[in-house]
Amino acid sequence: MSDLPLLILGGSYAGLLAAARLRKKAPTARILLIADQAHFQQRVRWHEALAGTRVKRAALAPLLARARVEFVQARILAWKPAAQQVEVLTPQGPQVIAYRGVICALGSVSQGADLPGAEHLWQLSFDQPLAERQAELKRLAACGGRLLVIGNGLSGVECASELAQRFAGLQVSLLGRQPPLPGFCPQAREHACRRLRQLRVTLLTGQVEALQAGAACLADGRRIDADRMLWCGGLRANPLLLHSGLPLTPQGRLRVGPDLRVEGYEHLWAAGDCSAATLTDGQLLRLSCATALPSGGHAGEAMGDWLLGRQPQPFAFAYALRCLSLGRGDGIWQLTDARDRAQPRWLGGWRAALIKWMLCTLVWVAPRWELSLGRTIYHWPRTVLDKESI
Ligand SMILES: Cc1cc2nc3c(=O)[nH]c(=O)nc-3n(C[C@H](O)[C@H](O)[C@H](O)COP(=O)(O)OP(=O)(O)OC[C@H]3O[C@@H](n4cnc5c(N)ncnc54)[C@H](O)[C@@H]3O)c2cc1C
Repeated sequence: MSDLPLLILGGSYAGLLAAARLRKKAPTARILLIADQAHFQQRVRWHEALAGTRVKRAALAPLLARARVEFVQARILAWKPAAQQVEVLTPQGPQVIAYRGVICALGSVSQGADLPGAEHLWQLSFDQPLAERQAELKRLAACGGRLLVIGNGLSGVECASELAQRFAGLQVSLLGRQPPLPGFCPQAREHACRRLRQLRVTLLTGQVEALQAGAACLADGRRIDADRMLWCGGLRANPLLLHSGLPLTPQGRLRVGPDLRVEGYEHLWAAGDCSAATLTDGQLLRLSCATALPSGGHAGEAMGDWLLGRQPQPFAFAYALRCLSLGRGDGIWQLTDARDRAQPRWLGGWRAALIKWMLCTLVWVAPRWELSLGRTIYHWPRTVLDKESI
């Protein structure tokens, strides 16, 4: 049994930091990371990549080799926890991999797939060919074509502003159920709306019920015509987990205990967007890179403690800020309390854009440097919150 490898499923923010921390605690263990993409992609900069910025990516095999972590590029088809096996499809064909323990960091997918007519949407995914999309946006911009961005939270606002700035002739509309950026303080929201209007983005409210070729149909009967529609209406945990038989929340995230161990399983952990990790007071973490790295790091350390026969520590995390870009040269930095509630302090303009750039750089370099150097570089804010103080 102990000859079997420890598996990390997923090679993004959570999976890579988990691998680095596990390797540090267990220098001789056999660790195998499985991901379907050959590269670590900067998902938080996807909108910049779509707008034509060259966003770097890192090949996983040499990166992981520096930490003596084996890389298997394969699509996971099924996970059989009862048999302690995953079934994968490699370029050489199907394979079954047995394991001793797993850290699941399989992340999230765009939620728009559930709507009728979702095939008409562009999704926030590197799986879709960005070069073709850019060419199409350029063509639409040249003839005053219309792009409808659906969802006006962080990623919707980032996409709408980035694309409106980069493709000047494109008519960009941003649609959401309520005015943009709920969860930010009123002044920060006003700043975002001002900036979006400066970039000639039309702000719309309404709830999408269905999609057709060239239009979004709203619950109130309106129809919004568009040449292209980009879905930014939310992420959900990897649907592969729905068939695993593991305990899930109603949103499809893996239920975990205080140390991020999957409920009822001694040798399974979950981190990042696929995990229902919480603050110490029980509040569910939002799907974000800001929580994927800390939970990934913690899961790696917890599995390492388990191997050493030590009691893993509970996961402690506190929110501190939110940050977003509003095209190039503008952005918002918003102070939050430990529970992610916006505080009155915020910053707009180039200083906020610079902070956002620095954060994107941090989450890009931290897992790679930890894997390469074997040192702890990334630290996250930690607070123990109790329910009574809510
Ligand atoms: C446009 C955009 C902007 C964003 N901006 C921010 C931001 O500013 N701040 C922030 O905190 N968050 C932001 N996010 C959210 C953030 O990107 C995600 O929360 C984060 O990527 C989650 O990391 P993860 O490691 O949990 O999973 P993911 O990044 O989803 O990675 C999942 C991994 O699992 C692998 N995988 C999945 N399915 C399979 C399978 N069947 N077989 C094999 N491998 C598989 C994938 O290849 C990948 O390696 C943004 C997201 C988008 C799309």
